Amino acid sequence: MHDAVTAAADAAMGHARDELMELVRIPSISADRAKAVEVQRSADATAALLERSGLDHVRQATVDACPPAVIGEWHHAADAPTVLLYAHHDVQPTGFVDRWTTDPFAPVERDGRLFGRGSADDKAGAVAHATAVQAWLETARELPCNVTVFIEGEEEVGSPNLGAFLARYQDDLSADVLVLADAGNWSVGTPGLTCSLRGLAGGVVRLQALSGPVHSGMAGGVVPDPAVALARVLASLVDDHGDVAIDGFWDDVRVPTDAERAELASLDTRPERVLATYGARPGLEAAGDPTRSVWERLWWRPALSVIGIDSHPIEGSSNQIVATAAARVSVRLAPSQDPDRALELLRAHLARHVPWGLEWSFEPDWGAPGWACEPTGWAFDAARRALTAGFGRSPVVMGVGGSIPFVAPFAEAFGGIPALLLGPADPTSRIHGEDESLHLGDWRNLVVSEALLLAELAENRP
Ligand SMILES: [Zn+2]
Repeated sequence: MHDAVTAAADAAMGHARDELMELVRIPSISADRAKAVEVQRSADATAALLERSGLDHVRQATVDACPPAVIGEWHHAADAPTVLLYAHHDVQPTGFVDRWTTDPFAPVERDGRLFGRGSADDKAGAVAHATAVQAWLETARELPCNVTVFIEGEEEVGSPNLGAFLARYQDDLSADVLVLADAGNWSVGTPGLTCSLRGLAGGVVRLQALSGPVHSGMAGGVVPDPAVALARVLASLVDDHGDVAIDGFWDDVRVPTDAERAELASLDTRPERVLATYGARPGLEAAGDPTRSVWERLWWRPALSVIGIDSHPIEGSSNQIVATAAARVSVRLAPSQDPDRALELLRAHLARHVPWGLEWSFEPDWGAPGWACEPTGWAFDAARRALTAGFGRSPVVMGVGGSIPFVAPFAEAFGGIPALLLGPADPTSRIHGEDESLHLGDWRNLVVSEALLLAELAENRP
Protein backbone atom coordinates (compact mmCIF):
# COMPACT_ATOMS: atom_id res chain seq x y z
CA MET A 1 0.00 0.00 0.00
CA HIS A 2 2.89 2.41 0.69
CA ASP A 3 4.02 2.19 -2.93
CA ALA A 4 0.51 2.79 -4.22
CA VAL A 5 0.06 5.80 -1.93
CA THR A 6 3.44 7.20 -2.97
CA ALA A 7 2.48 6.78 -6.62
CA ALA A 8 -0.87 8.48 -6.00
CA ALA A 9 0.83 11.40 -4.26
CA ASP A 10 3.29 11.70 -7.15
CA ALA A 11 0.49 11.66 -9.69
CA ALA A 12 -1.38 14.36 -7.70
CA MET A 13 1.46 16.89 -7.64
CA GLY A 14 0.50 18.64 -10.90
CA HIS A 15 -2.99 19.23 -9.58
CA ALA A 16 -1.62 20.19 -6.15
CA ARG A 17 0.47 22.87 -7.82
CA ASP A 18 -2.63 24.34 -9.46
CA GLU A 19 -4.39 24.31 -6.07
CA LEU A 20 -1.44 26.08 -4.49
CA MET A 21 -1.30 28.72 -7.20
CA GLU A 22 -4.98 29.44 -6.70
CA LEU A 23 -4.40 30.03 -2.98
CA VAL A 24 -1.30 32.18 -3.58
CA ARG A 25 -3.33 34.49 -5.84
CA ILE A 26 -5.36 35.55 -2.77
CA PRO A 27 -3.58 38.29 -0.75
CA SER A 28 -4.63 36.97 2.67
CA ILE A 29 -2.49 39.36 4.73
CA SER A 30 -3.78 39.00 8.29
CA ALA A 31 -1.80 42.02 9.56
CA ASP A 32 -3.69 44.34 7.21
CA ARG A 33 -7.24 45.03 8.40
CA ALA A 34 -8.14 46.32 4.95
CA LYS A 35 -7.46 42.78 3.66
CA ALA A 36 -10.01 41.06 5.93
CA VAL A 37 -12.13 40.29 2.87
CA GLU A 38 -9.17 38.54 1.27
CA VAL A 39 -8.47 36.51 4.41
CA GLN A 40 -12.11 35.41 4.29
CA ARG A 41 -11.74 34.54 0.58
CA SER A 42 -8.65 32.54 1.47
CA ALA A 43 -10.58 30.66 4.16
CA ASP A 44 -13.33 29.90 1.63
CA ALA A 45 -10.78 28.62 -0.91
CA THR A 46 -9.03 26.56 1.78
CA ALA A 47 -12.35 25.02 2.81
CA ALA A 48 -13.05 24.11 -0.82
CA LEU A 49 -9.57 22.53 -1.04
CA LEU A 50 -10.23 20.38 2.04
CA GLU A 51 -13.64 19.37 0.65
CA ARG A 52 -12.05 18.25 -2.61
CA SER A 53 -9.46 16.19 -0.72
CA GLY A 54 -12.30 14.03 0.66
CA LEU A 55 -12.31 15.22 4.27
CA ASP A 56 -15.62 15.23 6.16
CA HIS A 57 -17.39 17.98 8.03
CA VAL A 58 -15.28 20.81 6.62
CA ARG A 59 -16.16 24.03 8.44
CA GLN A 60 -14.82 27.46 9.26
CA ALA A 61 -14.12 28.24 12.88
CA THR A 62 -13.66 31.57 14.58
CA VAL A 63 -13.92 33.42 17.89
CA ASP A 64 -14.95 37.09 18.07
CA ALA A 65 -13.43 38.93 15.14
CA CYS A 66 -10.62 36.43 14.72
CA PRO A 67 -9.72 35.65 11.07
CA PRO A 68 -11.40 32.33 10.24
CA ALA A 69 -9.60 29.03 10.56
CA VAL A 70 -10.70 26.00 8.56
CA ILE A 71 -11.19 22.55 10.06
CA GLY A 72 -11.82 19.26 8.25
CA GLU A 73 -11.66 15.70 9.53
CA TRP A 74 -11.71 12.01 8.76
CA HIS A 75 -12.50 10.07 11.92
CA HIS A 76 -13.31 6.52 10.81
CA ALA A 77 -10.25 4.54 11.92
CA ALA A 78 -11.21 2.62 15.04
CA ASP A 79 -8.35 1.96 17.49
CA ALA A 80 -6.00 4.26 15.62
CA PRO A 81 -4.43 7.50 16.86
CA THR A 82 -5.80 10.89 15.88
CA VAL A 83 -3.32 13.12 14.08
CA LEU A 84 -3.84 16.86 13.91
CA LEU A 85 -2.37 18.33 10.72
CA TYR A 86 -1.69 22.05 11.11
CA ALA A 87 -0.91 24.80 8.60
CA HIS A 88 -2.04 28.42 8.16
CA HIS A 89 -3.63 30.19 5.21
CA ASP A 90 -2.83 33.79 6.14
CA VAL A 91 0.38 35.39 4.87
CA GLN A 92 2.88 38.11 5.70
CA PRO A 93 2.66 41.54 4.09
CA THR A 94 4.66 41.81 0.85
CA GLY A 95 7.28 44.33 1.93
CA PHE A 96 8.37 46.50 -1.00
CA VAL A 97 6.50 45.14 -4.02
CA ASP A 98 8.98 46.70 -6.44
CA ARG A 99 11.75 44.54 -4.95
CA TRP A 100 9.92 41.38 -6.04
CA THR A 101 11.05 40.00 -9.40
CA THR A 102 7.39 39.30 -10.20
CA ASP A 103 4.05 40.19 -8.59
CA PRO A 104 3.86 38.50 -5.15
CA PHE A 105 0.28 37.40 -5.84
CA ALA A 106 0.84 36.15 -9.39
CA PRO A 107 2.59 32.83 -8.69
CA VAL A 108 5.16 31.81 -11.27
CA GLU A 109 7.71 29.01 -11.60
CA ARG A 110 11.39 29.70 -12.17
CA ASP A 111 14.18 27.11 -11.92
CA GLY A 112 12.07 24.51 -10.15
CA ARG A 113 10.72 26.94 -7.57
CA LEU A 114 7.29 28.52 -7.27
CA PHE A 115 7.51 32.22 -6.40
CA GLY A 116 4.78 34.14 -4.60
CA ARG A 117 3.73 35.34 -1.14
CA GLY A 118 2.59 32.33 0.87
CA SER A 119 4.05 29.83 -1.64
CA ALA A 120 6.23 28.35 1.12
CA ASP A 121 4.78 29.96 4.26
CA ASP A 122 2.40 28.35 4.54
CA LYS A 123 -0.08 27.67 1.77
CA ALA A 124 2.18 24.85 0.58
CA GLY A 125 1.63 23.27 4.01
CA ALA A 126 -2.15 23.44 3.65
CA VAL A 127 -2.06 21.90 0.18
CA ALA A 128 0.43 19.24 1.35
CA HIS A 129 -2.04 18.08 4.01
CA ALA A 130 -4.91 17.96 1.53
CA THR A 131 -2.83 16.08 -1.05
CA ALA A 132 -1.54 13.49 1.44
CA VAL A 133 -5.11 12.81 2.63
CA GLN A 134 -6.36 12.59 -0.95
CA ALA A 135 -3.60 10.13 -1.93
CA TRP A 136 -4.85 7.73 0.76
CA LEU A 137 -8.54 8.13 0.04
CA GLU A 138 -7.99 7.58 -3.69
CA THR A 139 -5.94 4.42 -3.28
CA ALA A 140 -7.15 2.77 -0.07
CA ARG A 141 -10.55 4.48 0.31
CA GLU A 142 -9.54 5.09 3.90
CA LEU A 143 -6.84 6.69 6.03
CA PRO A 144 -4.56 4.61 8.28
CA CYS A 145 -5.41 6.83 11.26
CA ASN A 146 -7.89 9.51 12.24
CA VAL A 147 -7.01 12.90 10.87
CA THR A 148 -8.10 16.42 11.76
CA VAL A 149 -6.82 19.18 9.49
CA PHE A 150 -6.62 22.62 11.07
CA ILE A 151 -5.65 25.58 8.86
CA GLU A 152 -5.30 28.71 10.97
CA GLY A 153 -5.99 32.26 9.71
CA GLU A 154 -3.98 34.46 12.10
CA GLU A 155 -0.59 32.80 12.53
CA GLU A 156 1.32 35.66 10.93
CA VAL A 157 0.03 38.10 13.56
CA GLY A 158 1.09 35.79 16.41
CA SER A 159 -2.19 33.89 16.95
CA PRO A 160 -3.63 36.43 19.44
CA ASN A 161 -6.93 34.54 19.78
CA LEU A 162 -5.38 31.14 20.25
CA GLY A 163 -6.32 30.78 23.93
CA ALA A 164 -9.98 31.56 23.27
CA PHE A 165 -9.88 29.38 20.20
CA LEU A 166 -8.52 26.37 22.05
CA ALA A 167 -11.07 26.81 24.81
CA ARG A 168 -13.94 26.86 22.32
CA TYR A 169 -12.74 24.15 19.91
CA GLN A 170 -10.91 21.84 22.32
CA ASP A 171 -13.09 18.85 21.37
CA ASP A 172 -12.82 19.51 17.64
CA LEU A 173 -9.02 19.66 17.78
CA SER A 174 -8.21 17.01 20.36
CA ALA A 175 -5.48 14.66 19.06
CA ASP A 176 -2.71 12.21 20.03
CA VAL A 177 -0.03 13.85 17.94
CA LEU A 178 0.41 17.19 16.26
CA VAL A 179 2.01 17.52 12.80
CA LEU A 180 2.83 21.07 11.77
CA ALA A 181 3.78 21.79 8.18
CA ASP A 182 4.95 25.30 9.03
CA ALA A 183 8.65 24.72 9.65
CA GLY A 184 11.19 23.71 7.07
CA ASN A 185 13.97 21.63 5.67
CA TRP A 186 17.63 21.73 6.62
CA SER A 187 18.56 22.53 3.03
CA VAL A 188 17.25 21.80 -0.45
CA GLY A 189 17.09 18.00 -0.64
CA THR A 190 17.66 17.35 3.08
CA PRO A 191 14.60 17.25 5.33
CA GLY A 192 14.48 18.82 8.78
CA LEU A 193 12.70 17.76 11.94
CA THR A 194 12.40 20.82 14.14
CA CYS A 195 12.69 20.30 17.89
CA SER A 196 12.91 23.82 19.24
CA LEU A 197 11.51 27.26 18.54
CA ARG A 198 12.43 30.57 20.06
CA GLY A 199 9.87 32.71 21.85
CA LEU A 200 9.17 36.36 21.25
CA ALA A 201 8.89 39.47 23.40
CA GLY A 202 8.89 43.10 22.40
CA GLY A 203 7.21 46.43 22.24
CA VAL A 204 7.52 50.11 21.45
CA VAL A 205 9.69 52.46 23.50
CA ARG A 206 8.82 56.12 23.05
CA LEU A 207 10.87 59.06 24.31
CA GLN A 208 9.61 62.63 24.51
CA ALA A 209 11.63 65.75 25.29
CA LEU A 210 9.46 68.58 24.01
CA SER A 211 5.88 69.40 23.13
CA GLY A 212 7.01 70.28 19.59
CA PRO A 213 10.23 70.52 17.53
CA VAL A 214 12.56 73.47 18.16
CA HIS A 215 15.42 75.23 16.31
CA SER A 216 18.59 73.21 16.92
CA GLY A 217 20.75 76.33 16.79
CA MET A 218 18.75 78.14 19.44
CA ALA A 219 18.21 75.15 21.74
CA GLY A 220 20.93 72.62 20.88
CA GLY A 221 23.48 72.17 23.64
CA VAL A 222 20.92 72.72 26.35
CA VAL A 223 17.77 70.89 25.22
CA PRO A 224 18.50 67.13 24.93
CA ASP A 225 17.81 65.42 21.61
CA PRO A 226 15.31 62.51 21.88
CA ALA A 227 16.74 60.78 18.78
CA VAL A 228 20.21 60.73 20.35
CA ALA A 229 18.72 59.63 23.68
CA LEU A 230 16.93 56.80 21.87
CA ALA A 231 20.17 55.72 20.17
CA ARG A 232 21.89 55.58 23.58
CA VAL A 233 19.07 53.53 25.11
CA LEU A 234 19.02 51.09 22.20
CA ALA A 235 22.80 50.72 22.28
CA SER A 236 22.63 49.93 26.00
CA LEU A 237 20.45 46.87 25.26
CA VAL A 238 23.34 44.89 23.75
CA ASP A 239 27.01 44.21 24.44
CA ASP A 240 29.96 44.50 22.03
CA HIS A 241 28.96 41.27 20.28
CA GLY A 242 25.36 42.34 19.88
CA ASP A 243 24.18 39.94 22.61
CA VAL A 244 21.39 41.03 24.93
CA ALA A 245 22.85 43.02 27.86
CA ILE A 246 19.78 43.39 30.06
CA ASP A 247 20.34 42.60 33.76
CA GLY A 248 18.98 39.19 34.71
CA PHE A 249 17.90 38.42 31.16
CA TRP A 250 20.07 35.33 30.86
CA ASP A 251 19.02 33.76 34.18
CA ASP A 252 16.32 31.58 32.57
CA VAL A 253 18.29 30.70 29.42
CA ARG A 254 18.99 26.98 29.60
CA VAL A 255 22.55 26.22 28.57
CA PRO A 256 22.87 23.17 26.29
CA THR A 257 24.39 20.04 27.78
CA ASP A 258 27.71 18.73 26.46
CA ALA A 259 25.81 16.12 24.46
CA GLU A 260 23.55 18.77 22.96
CA ARG A 261 26.59 20.91 22.11
CA ALA A 262 28.20 17.91 20.43
CA GLU A 263 25.05 17.51 18.27
CA LEU A 264 25.27 21.16 17.25
CA ALA A 265 28.97 20.80 16.49
CA SER A 266 28.24 17.94 14.10
CA LEU A 267 26.43 20.42 11.81
CA ASP A 268 28.21 22.89 9.55
CA THR A 269 29.08 25.60 12.09
CA ARG A 270 30.78 28.13 9.83
CA PRO A 271 29.29 31.58 10.46
CA GLU A 272 30.20 32.51 6.85
CA ARG A 273 27.71 29.95 5.61
CA VAL A 274 24.88 31.48 7.62
CA LEU A 275 25.87 35.00 6.58
CA ALA A 276 26.02 33.95 2.91
CA THR A 277 22.59 32.29 3.12
CA TYR A 278 21.09 35.61 4.11
CA GLY A 279 22.92 37.70 1.52
CA ALA A 280 25.34 39.46 3.90
CA ARG A 281 27.52 42.18 2.35
CA PRO A 282 31.26 41.47 2.10
CA GLY A 283 33.14 42.06 5.34
CA LEU A 284 30.09 41.71 7.59
CA GLU A 285 31.00 40.03 10.90
CA ALA A 286 28.76 37.50 12.62
CA ALA A 287 26.96 38.75 15.73
CA GLY A 288 26.79 36.89 19.03
CA ASP A 289 29.30 35.36 21.43
CA PRO A 290 32.02 33.90 19.18
CA THR A 291 32.70 31.10 21.68
CA ARG A 292 29.20 29.67 20.96
CA SER A 293 28.45 27.84 17.74
CA VAL A 294 26.20 29.59 15.25
CA TRP A 295 23.49 27.00 15.93
CA GLU A 296 23.58 27.67 19.64
CA ARG A 297 23.34 31.38 18.88
CA LEU A 298 20.42 30.90 16.47
CA TRP A 299 18.41 28.30 18.38
CA TRP A 300 19.36 28.39 22.07
CA ARG A 301 20.07 32.02 22.85
CA PRO A 302 18.05 35.26 22.77
CA ALA A 303 18.61 37.85 20.03
CA LEU A 304 17.49 41.46 20.03
CA SER A 305 16.49 43.48 16.97
CA VAL A 306 15.16 46.98 16.47
CA ILE A 307 12.49 46.45 13.83
CA GLY A 308 11.26 50.02 13.46
CA ILE A 309 12.41 53.54 14.34
CA ASP A 310 10.40 56.75 14.21
CA SER A 311 11.90 60.20 14.31
CA HIS A 312 11.80 62.80 11.57
CA PRO A 313 12.39 61.15 8.15
CA ILE A 314 15.63 62.19 6.40
CA GLU A 315 13.59 63.50 3.49
CA GLY A 316 12.45 66.99 4.42
CA SER A 317 14.48 67.12 7.63
CA SER A 318 15.80 70.46 8.79
CA ASN A 319 17.97 71.74 11.62
CA GLN A 320 15.57 70.95 14.42
CA ILE A 321 15.57 69.01 17.62
CA VAL A 322 12.63 66.67 17.20
CA ALA A 323 10.10 66.40 20.01
CA THR A 324 9.87 62.60 20.19
CA ALA A 325 11.61 59.46 19.00
CA ALA A 326 10.44 55.86 19.23
CA ALA A 327 11.60 52.37 18.38
CA ARG A 328 9.98 48.95 18.24
CA VAL A 329 12.23 46.42 19.95
CA SER A 330 11.80 42.70 19.28
CA VAL A 331 13.61 39.96 21.18
CA ARG A 332 13.68 36.34 20.06
CA LEU A 333 13.79 34.41 23.33
CA ALA A 334 15.61 31.20 24.12
CA PRO A 335 13.12 28.28 24.19
CA SER A 336 13.32 28.13 28.00
CA GLN A 337 12.60 31.81 28.64
CA ASP A 338 9.46 33.26 30.18
CA PRO A 339 8.12 36.02 27.88
CA ASP A 340 6.38 37.95 30.69
CA ARG A 341 9.59 38.01 32.69
CA ALA A 342 11.50 39.16 29.59
CA LEU A 343 9.10 42.08 29.09
CA GLU A 344 9.42 43.10 32.74
CA LEU A 345 13.22 43.07 32.54
CA LEU A 346 13.14 45.06 29.32
CA ARG A 347 10.92 47.67 30.95
CA ALA A 348 13.14 47.83 34.04
CA HIS A 349 16.20 48.28 31.81
CA LEU A 350 14.54 51.19 30.02
CA ALA A 351 13.66 52.77 33.35
CA ARG A 352 17.34 52.66 34.31
CA HIS A 353 18.76 53.80 30.97
CA VAL A 354 16.57 56.56 29.54
CA PRO A 355 18.91 59.55 29.96
CA TRP A 356 18.45 63.23 30.80
CA GLY A 357 15.02 63.03 32.35
CA LEU A 358 13.11 62.45 29.12
CA GLU A 359 9.53 61.29 29.43
CA TRP A 360 9.24 57.72 28.24
CA SER A 361 6.77 54.90 27.80
CA PHE A 362 6.92 51.25 26.84
CA GLU A 363 3.97 49.49 25.23
CA PRO A 364 4.44 45.72 24.95
CA ASP A 365 3.39 44.16 21.63
CA TRP A 366 4.17 40.51 22.07
CA GLY A 367 5.02 37.93 24.63
CA ALA A 368 5.00 34.39 23.26
CA PRO A 369 6.80 31.37 24.68
CA GLY A 370 9.31 29.30 22.77
CA TRP A 371 9.16 25.55 22.71
CA ALA A 372 11.56 22.63 22.85
CA CYS A 373 11.15 18.89 22.93
CA GLU A 374 13.25 15.78 23.25
CA PRO A 375 13.31 14.25 19.74
CA THR A 376 12.63 10.71 20.90
CA GLY A 377 9.66 8.38 21.19
CA TRP A 378 7.16 6.69 18.88
CA ALA A 379 6.06 9.79 16.99
CA PHE A 380 9.61 10.94 16.28
CA ASP A 381 10.66 7.48 15.18
CA ALA A 382 7.71 7.47 12.78
CA ALA A 383 8.63 10.92 11.46
CA ARG A 384 12.27 9.96 10.94
CA ARG A 385 11.27 6.92 8.90
CA ALA A 386 8.66 8.78 6.85
CA LEU A 387 10.97 11.69 6.02
CA THR A 388 13.81 9.35 5.13
CA ALA A 389 11.51 7.49 2.74
CA GLY A 390 10.04 10.66 1.24
CA PHE A 391 13.33 12.50 0.69
CA GLY A 392 15.69 9.56 0.26
CA ARG A 393 17.79 11.13 3.02
CA SER A 394 17.47 11.08 6.79
CA PRO A 395 16.29 14.29 8.46
CA VAL A 396 18.49 16.72 10.36
CA VAL A 397 17.13 17.23 13.87
CA MET A 398 17.26 20.99 14.11
CA GLY A 399 16.12 24.06 15.98
CA VAL A 400 14.51 27.09 14.44
CA GLY A 401 15.29 30.62 15.51
CA GLY A 402 11.79 31.79 14.64
CA SER A 403 8.64 31.51 16.70
CA ILE A 404 5.37 29.66 16.23
CA PRO A 405 3.38 30.83 19.27
CA PHE A 406 0.80 28.16 18.57
CA VAL A 407 3.00 25.16 19.36
CA ALA A 408 3.59 25.33 23.13
CA PRO A 409 0.01 26.16 24.22
CA PHE A 410 -1.42 23.68 21.74
CA ALA A 411 0.75 20.75 22.79
CA GLU A 412 -0.03 21.64 26.43
CA ALA A 413 -3.79 21.91 25.87
CA PHE A 414 -3.81 18.23 24.91
CA GLY A 415 -1.65 16.97 27.73
CA GLY A 416 1.80 17.47 26.23
CA ILE A 417 1.24 15.43 23.06
CA PRO A 418 4.22 15.04 20.71
CA ALA A 419 4.55 17.76 18.11
CA LEU A 420 6.28 17.01 14.80
CA LEU A 421 7.40 20.14 13.00
CA LEU A 422 7.99 19.62 9.31
CA GLY A 423 7.55 22.02 6.50
CA PRO A 424 7.91 23.08 2.89
CA ALA A 425 10.41 25.94 3.32
CA ASP A 426 14.19 25.76 2.99
CA PRO A 427 16.81 28.35 3.97
CA THR A 428 16.62 30.00 0.53
CA SER A 429 12.80 30.31 0.58
CA ARG A 430 12.94 33.92 1.87
CA ILE A 431 9.78 33.43 3.88
CA HIS A 432 8.55 36.81 5.19
CA GLY A 433 10.88 38.47 2.65
CA GLU A 434 10.70 39.53 -0.97
CA ASP A 435 10.71 36.83 -3.67
CA GLU A 436 9.41 34.12 -1.32
CA SER A 437 9.55 30.75 -3.05
CA LEU A 438 8.94 27.04 -2.68
CA HIS A 439 11.22 24.29 -3.99
CA LEU A 440 8.77 22.10 -5.91
CA GLY A 441 10.90 18.96 -5.73
CA ASP A 442 11.13 19.14 -1.94
CA TRP A 443 7.44 19.91 -1.75
CA ARG A 444 6.75 16.63 -3.54
CA ASN A 445 9.04 14.90 -1.05
CA LEU A 446 7.16 16.48 1.83
CA VAL A 447 3.78 15.37 0.50
CA VAL A 448 5.01 11.79 0.09
CA SER A 449 6.58 11.89 3.57
CA GLU A 450 3.32 13.11 5.08
CA ALA A 451 1.30 10.39 3.38
CA LEU A 452 3.73 7.76 4.68
CA LEU A 453 3.81 9.39 8.11
CA LEU A 454 0.10 8.73 8.61
CA ALA A 455 0.76 5.00 8.20
CA GLU A 456 3.91 5.10 10.35
CA LEU A 457 2.04 6.83 13.17
CA ALA A 458 -0.80 4.31 13.00
CA GLU A 459 1.66 1.40 13.11
CA ASN A 460 3.95 2.79 15.79
CA ARG A 461 1.65 4.11 18.44
CA PRO A 462 2.46 2.20 21.64
ZN1 LIG B 1 4.21 30.19 8.73
